[in-house]
Amino acid sequence: MRVYNFSAGPAMLPLEVLERAKDELLDWQGGGMSVMEVSHRGKPFVECAASAEAALREVMSIPEGYKCLFLQGGAYGEFAAIPLNLSAAGQSVDFINTGDWSTKAIAEAKKYVTANVIADEKASNFSRVPAQGSYQVSKDAAYLHYTPNETIRGVEFDYVPETGGIPLIGDMSSTILSRPVDVSKFGLIFAGAQKNMGPSGLVVVIVREDLLGKARTECPSVWDFTQQAAADSMLNTPPTFSWYLLGLVLDWVKANGGLEGMAKRNKAKADALYGYIDGSGFYTNPVEKNARSWMNVPFLVANPELEKPFVSEAAKAGLTNLAGHRSVGGMRASIYNAMPLEGVQALIDFMKDFAAKNG
Ligand code: PMP
Repeated sequence: MRVYNFSAGPAMLPLEVLERAKDELLDWQGGGMSVMEVSHRGKPFVECAASAEAALREVMSIPEGYKCLFLQGGAYGEFAAIPLNLSAAGQSVDFINTGDWSTKAIAEAKKYVTANVIADEKASNFSRVPAQGSYQVSKDAAYLHYTPNETIRGVEFDYVPETGGIPLIGDMSSTILSRPVDVSKFGLIFAGAQKNMGPSGLVVVIVREDLLGKARTECPSVWDFTQQAAADSMLNTPPTFSWYLLGLVLDWVKANGGLEGMAKRNKAKADALYGYIDGSGFYTNPVEKNARSWMNVPFLVANPELEKPFVSEAAKAGLTNLAGHRSVGGMRASIYNAMPLEGVQALIDFMKDFAAKNG
């Protein structure tokens, strides 16, 4: 039996995608083997990889002048790869800190570069985003890094920061493909695949071409954007299965209205869940309304002793992985693209029952 899986990642994938992968698994494209078993340099895989890239460009409306890279090492690897590619030793970079992932990115960058935190929401316990214009971007920074959606505490920017010409870096791991985005505002976008794009093992980097050619000599070659761009992300063996599956997920996104369709579906889900939480008198969400994530919805109950029973009873009802991140506790429902509205409605029904029994 399939459950409604509210995991933050690796996360639920569209059933149609899994079914297609299953149908194709043993005999991919009539070659008598699976996509996992073919050479990444053979024509069938090279074409599959190129068509996934074309679909990504189409779905995200990526303008000319950007390279798409399909790499390994996860989004966490990019926390190191980005300073190694885009900053020179002795330079400084700016960060906006809105949660655990930007905090980790700052710590990693500090190994290579001076990191200025120009806005820090730690004092608000990461419950909001700084207002546009409330911080000063350094004129000489190599770039500004921020996290459009913080997965752990469910804090999402409702605007794209203005940088005054400095390249903007967006860690879109948990929001990519969830709604339209103006790629031209970014110097670089990166995202681990295992939420809205496919299985883990793949990190997608979309980088403006004028930012290439600056990698430090000590940058590992597999993370050197310039070398990887020149090699079509095949300097070494890429994560072939994840790349293939990304292509299937993008086909599904296209068949379901593209990013406009995703945005409509995601807003309806988020509105339903936050609306219920706010009116429940039993559950609360600590994030300021304008910064509430469409993808990750944390919620609390007044009595923390009810958290474990909530999570285990929900799992018995087919609603899995609702525990909050181990660092913050509480509960969290991740409602990525693949989660249907029916799954959110089933969660709300369960929450109502649980509140009635325990209120
Ligand atoms: N950034 C964000 C916003 C994330 O949610 C995550 C993972 N949950 C990461 C970075 C780290 O990604 P990975 O595990 O792919 O290295």
